[in-house]
Amino acid sequence: MAPPFRAEHMGSLLRPQNLLDVRAAIRDGKSPEEAGLAAVEKQAVGDVVKMQLDLGFRAVTSGEFVRTRFWGLMWDEFQGTTRLQDAEAAMFRLYHPDVVSLIEKDRKVMPGDSVIAGEKLSYDPKASVSNVHELQLVQQFVPKERWGDIKLTMITPSWFHMRYKEGSAYSNDAYANDAEYFKGVAGVYQAELDQLYKAGLRNVQFDDPNMAYFCSQKFRKGWEEDKDNSGTVEDLLDSYIALYNDCISKCPSDMHTGIHLCRGNFIGGRHFAEGAYDIIAKKLFQNMDVNTFYLEYDTERAGGFEPLKFLPKNKNVVIGAISTKLPQLEGKEAVKQRIYSAADFVAEGSGQSREEALKRICLSPQCGFSTHESGYPLSEDEEKAKLSMIRQLADEIWGEP
Ligand SMILES: [Zn+2]
Repeated sequence: MAPPFRAEHMGSLLRPQNLLDVRAAIRDGKSPEEAGLAAVEKQAVGDVVKMQLDLGFRAVTSGEFVRTRFWGLMWDEFQGTTRLQDAEAAMFRLYHPDVVSLIEKDRKVMPGDSVIAGEKLSYDPKASVSNVHELQLVQQFVPKERWGDIKLTMITPSWFHMRYKEGSAYSNDAYANDAEYFKGVAGVYQAELDQLYKAGLRNVQFDDPNMAYFCSQKFRKGWEEDKDNSGTVEDLLDSYIALYNDCISKCPSDMHTGIHLCRGNFIGGRHFAEGAYDIIAKKLFQNMDVNTFYLEYDTERAGGFEPLKFLPKNKNVVIGAISTKLPQLEGKEAVKQRIYSAADFVAEGSGQSREEALKRICLSPQCGFSTHESGYPLSEDEEKAKLSMIRQLADEIWGEP
């Protein structure tokens, strides 16, 4: 069986305390060498890969242990990016939920949290090393014949676009307009995916909080009231879908691609976007060329399963019905019934039977367990219990990996 698997998780897992301690020491001024980062990181990744394999998960990840936050270092490694220091709030869309959380009281943003294309983007394989390093770390702990199962998460190509006011994601010298900028972004993503493919990656999941904001009426209203926008919010959605398609257009057919519409699992269990998928489902499912959609479905903020009627026959959906925000275990029977209900909508839309539709459905938590380093409501044992339950449910519903 190839990805996606019946039992999935979104990538990030709770980090061990010794890894958090090492990173804290580095923040306090120690060099990574002095702090012993490489050895601690390798041990931690080895342990978390073993945990996933022992629990029966095939699409194993690094737990994102080599990152301090879910978007990692990929954009910093692209050539031509400029890190913003104390950027003016005026260059941001103040109705963008991430921005709302990042802008400080004095109307500056936190330094180092955002980049723009200061020059034309280009790709240097010698600089773009963090994802390959992460993949190779995981490979060391997985039998070679299973390397194709390993999942790597990657931040959405629109990550450093949506937050900025129109024309502010790049300098005027670099790009004249969004269309040119998107072409530049697609170029570096294609190169990154090519390098990862050559290193053995066959399973990539784009993490995309931006896409979920299109479901938010608050964001849509903010967009409409922003006089600097030349296009509609639907134009933006279309351009992001086209951007994805361009980014993955060079992927060989045995590279599984997916998108996780992320509604946030921020420190303290805070989240950003609300609103059902109905408003974007048709376009998203039908126009975006990824194989699999990883959707949050743990609470009512995501709405019902009706939009799954738009899922085309050649695509899969992973139902994020298990919460990473609440330690209590969900009722198994209730989750099963939800999966069957989702299958009925998928079946209705594609003229399939429930059994056929179930072949395109998987189960997962609604988000990662630790999208940033620390501050989550679950303990490691509770995380394991959630993952075990997903495995059990997948065995009982499908009897497949
Ligand atoms: Zn998420």
